[in-house]
Amino acid sequence: LGTLYVVATPIGNLEDLSPRAARVLGSVDLVAAEDTRHTSRLLRHLGLSPAMLSLHEHNEAARVEQLDERLRRGESIALVSDAGTPLISDPGFVLVRELRMRGRRIVPVPGPCALVAALSAAGLPTDRFLFLGFLPAKGGGRRQRLEALGQHTETLVFYESPHRIRDTLADIATVFGERRLVLARELTKSFETFLDGSASALLAWMEADPDQSRGEFVIMVAGAEARESTDIASLEADAIVKALLAEGVGV
Ligand code: SAM
Repeated sequence: LGTLYVVATPIGNLEDLSPRAARVLGSVDLVAAEDTRHTSRLLRHLGLSPAMLSLHEHNEAARVEQLDERLRRGESIALVSDAGTPLISDPGFVLVRELRMRGRRIVPVPGPCALVAALSAAGLPTDRFLFLGFLPAKGGGRRQRLEALGQHTETLVFYESPHRIRDTLADIATVFGERRLVLARELTKSFETFLDGSASALLAWMEADPDQSRGEFVIMVAGAEARESTDIASLEADAIVKALLAEGVGV
């Protein structure tokens, strides 16, 4: 029986492709890719030209039999998405679920993932977090989803596109008020930026510099329990107390 390798690819910086990922992509019989044209650019960069097949949300279920048949013939297959780790807000779940139910060998080849990269450098609690993928595209549904998350104590992590980043920040400001937020933009790319502040402050900043709303975003919001120590207002209060103490003022 063959193996399905679930291979993570770069989220911007090609140097993030692991040597193991490159070796696997160069040795499999077939690469199943979300967008074959997109992935062939990466493969060309590696000097590879393997057989390819598209696997995206609209044909994933229909591909299961075909790919399982190839595994049963002893072929090996690499599953990749356009960027980062397959199945993480990307296609692959249906295929992996079905193949695992059939007892096939499925091997992860770990690597880049925007949510992990963002959390690793944000400075928000990472011991417990809730990854929520993309919020609903429409304002009403989005605010409802955010309201339902209000009491969660875990750090909340969302993916967002440049088209909706401002609307989403406006809704977060409405629902979460001054709660601390860290925005990771264009991770691993030339214009990588981390912004830290309340949603309304970040929105005002983006409106002042429209370039800041371009690119790809991970939004991280402090959990409810952490509010006391991570509210912008209380951070400022802490800074004032420290300044007064430094000046020797009794407080
Ligand atoms: N599978 C990918 C992963 O492992 O992160 C995520 C794919 S999802 C369709 C695309 C979203 O991931 C983007 O809209 C953005 O929210 C986030 N993302 C991907 N690359 C990013 C980057 N370089 N910087 C910031 N966010 C990124």
